[in-house]
Amino acid sequence: MSDFDEARAWMVERQIVQRGVRDDYVIEAMRRVPREAFVPSDLREFAYDDTPLPIGGEQSISQPYIVAKMLAAAELQPGDRVLDIGTGSGYAAAIAAEIAGRVDSIERDASLAEGARERLQRLGYENVEVHVGDGTAGLAAHAPYNAIIAAAGGPRVPRALRMQLAVGGRLVMPVGSSQSRQRLVKIVRRDEHDYDEDAFGDVRFVPLVGDDGWPEPGGAARADLRPASTSTPIPLTSTPAAPTPAAPMPAAPRPAALELAIRDAAEPLPDIDSAEFAAFFDRFAGHRVVLLGEASHGTSEFYRARAAITRRLVEQHGFSMIAVEADWPDAAIVDRHVRARPMPGGRSRPFRRFPTWMWRNTDFMGLIAWLRSHNAAHPERETRFYGLDIYSLSESIDAVLRYLDSVDPAAARIARERYGCLSPWQKDPAVYGRAALSGGYAQCEEHVVAQLGDLLKSRLDYAREDGERFLDAAQNARLVAVAEHYYRAMYYGGPQSWNLRDTHMFDTLRHTLDSRGPQARLVVWAHNSHIGDASATQMGRMQDEINLGQLCRAQFGDAAALIGFGTHSGTVAAASDWGGPMEVKTVQPSLEGSVEFSMHGTGLPRFLLDLRPGMHDTLRERLRAPLLERFIGVIYRPGTERYSHYAQASLAEQFDAFVWFDRTSAVSALPVSADEKNHAAETFPFGV
Ligand code: SAH
Repeated sequence: MSDFDEARAWMVERQIVQRGVRDDYVIEAMRRVPREAFVPSDLREFAYDDTPLPIGGEQSISQPYIVAKMLAAAELQPGDRVLDIGTGSGYAAAIAAEIAGRVDSIERDASLAEGARERLQRLGYENVEVHVGDGTAGLAAHAPYNAIIAAAGGPRVPRALRMQLAVGGRLVMPVGSSQSRQRLVKIVRRDEHDYDEDAFGDVRFVPLVGDDGWPEPGGAARADLRPASTSTPIPLTSTPAAPTPAAPMPAAPRPAALELAIRDAAEPLPDIDSAEFAAFFDRFAGHRVVLLGEASHGTSEFYRARAAITRRLVEQHGFSMIAVEADWPDAAIVDRHVRARPMPGGRSRPFRRFPTWMWRNTDFMGLIAWLRSHNAAHPERETRFYGLDIYSLSESIDAVLRYLDSVDPAAARIARERYGCLSPWQKDPAVYGRAALSGGYAQCEEHVVAQLGDLLKSRLDYAREDGERFLDAAQNARLVAVAEHYYRAMYYGGPQSWNLRDTHMFDTLRHTLDSRGPQARLVVWAHNSHIGDASATQMGRMQDEINLGQLCRAQFGDAAALIGFGTHSGTVAAASDWGGPMEVKTVQPSLEGSVEFSMHGTGLPRFLLDLRPGMHDTLRERLRAPLLERFIGVIYRPGTERYSHYAQASLAEQFDAFVWFDRTSAVSALPVSADEKNHAAETFPFGV
């Protein structure tokens, strides 16, 4: 079995069968058609991802699931005559051809049509014919059809298509009054004049551009767009601007009902700076581990709210450990600072690597200044600060990038994109191609892994000399043992490196907790994507990614509280590419159909949703359905937001509580100054 065969079998199981597609013809066809042959060669390694992919001409090959869902709805039978509108890559046509007797496929973009025609021929599909033209006119020459499917969304079902449907025939297409959002419509022709019509599932397809569809962008429908039955190929120039990849939207409950349920359950929160704010979180004080999330790595309100809650848990409820999504060596310096211990020589300036603003910001500095004075006033209740992340993650990445920059800049560009995968959902379809493996990239692996091994060794030597070391000998040995495996996975990115990273975070968490005895209680700060139970999200269900929150639930059960944070709009501190400068970017208003959009719809500026079992069961029931949820990491790409930053998740299963700030603003970053020697004790280690 080749890697692709395996990936295909896996894709059909996870993305098609487990999502409820029951049509055996479709399932079997999906098992046979080599999707890797339908995507551009530099994107082959992503062919079986649960996503549409760009195919040139500003168009995309549909996500496998959406193809399966439409063909199952069209109830294809052996021997059927099928009309496929919007050939694109030809993938959907190939699946249809595996089942039906004959498939006619129409594409308005001549070069896409030509590419699909060659591909289908090469793969031996003799029962498919590709035509160039406007599919809104159908293809009278071969009508009537037992099934018609369209992979582009129009404002209505074109009249010609209804007419060309055989009696008993099924038509499935996206229809919507907006160019970027539709519902799938199914029409069955009962007899000459009688049609049944049904709508199911919200989707986003590229627009169906034609005489009985949307006008050509920037003008009326072109006069030279003639029905496909004319034999002359029609030279078409532009394709629709700003296409939205043909990704399915989840089936959302009616927004109004969801908004009402959220409003009913929401506990409005006072201002973060007010004394009452943190008291709302006393209900979690009895937990052993309280995990506080964030929907971005650069939003001030998330930091300030988490700082207020953390202070309360430490001051009033006996929590004595704070662990954050940061490198342990950097956090260890903060730990010494907050406990007024002497600094080790040479390495006392933490968080100097990308993304510096995550910790070098005024909100975080406020927390550590408070923690230092708290510890000074209560030495008997000293609270310690830990970094959970993979040992020297950012230092390692930095080392890889510097090395690749010097030996192979093309490979360095790929690596930058791949490191994006370590913080999720920032892939940009326009640069996705660059992330594919090149020969040079593969050749560098040996050197990179060796370099990282050396780096780890010198760091551990350093830790050994350091009197107050955090890791014991056993954990050091474990790190060394997995290092090579880990660095290889990290070099290539993807779910494996994600899982290694979150498993490592969890091991470190357990290890530190154990080191403080059975009574110790811990507050964790990490991104929602690490904290919200991954098994309730697309990343867990489709990509087999696990995360810290999920592992904590498995280990601590009800003694772990998973608390997510979210926002509708405002500003955020983020970069455009890995290693790029921090920018203050505008957070787009949340997408219609997302969970954030419903929260925004309540009209409340700030609130807490308690999602624990027994609380607000009606709302929990509604929030069990997967909805789009936004994830902004250290990189934010508003231009491709739907594709780069949204994923489906069941909020009620992900979190025990959710904290909402309708409008938010970017953190204020502190400079990374070259000379931090003259720092005042209060502001150290950031030296402002
Ligand atoms: N089924 C395709 C998905 C293609 S995306 C696949 O599996 O790869 C939709 C395609 O519809 C685009 O290629 C676009 O050019 C085409 N399209 C849009 N309007 C059209 C029209 N009126 N007639 C024919 N094709 C059209």
